[in-house]
Amino acid sequence: MSTVYITDCHIHTNYSSDSDAPMEEMILSAIQKGCDEIAFTDHVDFDERYDFTDYAVYMPVIYELAEKYKNDITVTFGVEIGLESLWADKINALTQKFPFDFIIGSSHAVCTKDLYFDRNEFFSGKTKTEAYNTYWDEMLKNIGACRDFCVYGHLDFVSRYGTYDDNTLRYEDYADKIDAVLKALIENGKGIEINTSGFRYGINTVYPSIDILNRYKQLGGEIVTIGSDAHFVKDVADHIGCAYDMLFEAGYSHITVFRHRKPKFIKL
Ligand SMILES: [Zn+2]
Ligand SMILES: [Zn+2]
Repeated sequence: MSTVYITDCHIHTNYSSDSDAPMEEMILSAIQKGCDEIAFTDHVDFDERYDFTDYAVYMPVIYELAEKYKNDITVTFGVEIGLESLWADKINALTQKFPFDFIIGSSHAVCTKDLYFDRNEFFSGKTKTEAYNTYWDEMLKNIGACRDFCVYGHLDFVSRYGTYDDNTLRYEDYADKIDAVLKALIENGKGIEINTSGFRYGINTVYPSIDILNRYKQLGGEIVTIGSDAHFVKDVADHIGCAYDMLFEAGYSHITVFRHRKPKFIKL
């Protein structure tokens, strides 16, 4: 691993309401684990039940720490935004207001139903096929409406919260829907991420599945970032080696990072 450029471009800190991790400790942990580059991506979700990361406070702290540790690691200024097409105006205003290096757009809610808080409301009365089809359809709308994100986060994340006996989401069962999403991402110059949080949430692999990553590559997608989605210091760079293995398995020989929302490809 020593010659590979190690990145963890999905990290939360105590500026997110669901993490108590101090930013500086996350940086020190990343350095200790051999990361060359990380991105802080604290949450913005326009669902009122979430607190809102205060960027006026958050941004200067990131810049100060990035400068302090610049000889050891590259630290970039990011955000993870919960995408919903009905909030597109607010989302687009936020992305224009701050000079983000990197924006992860994620589906945390579908048709205003939060997949965590409202899981019973969202899934009940729907077959798995109906619920997962709705998830992909709404994602397609989000991609059209929210134009400034860089990568779509944890693409098949709905399977974390399904309330079925078997929540597995297989590419072949939703191939048309997933292809429509992947093609829209590629046409709009957007990437996907390999998110290793699945190892901490019971699926024992990454989001998305290798089949979806392979399909993104097959359709011409070149922009893939890697992130742990750490909310705790111990989880920085968690299973990052597995994500790199998967990247290579899918045929990639570069990793993507972002500067001022522009992809930068680093050969591995
Ligand atoms: Zn997320
Ligand atoms: Zn996250």
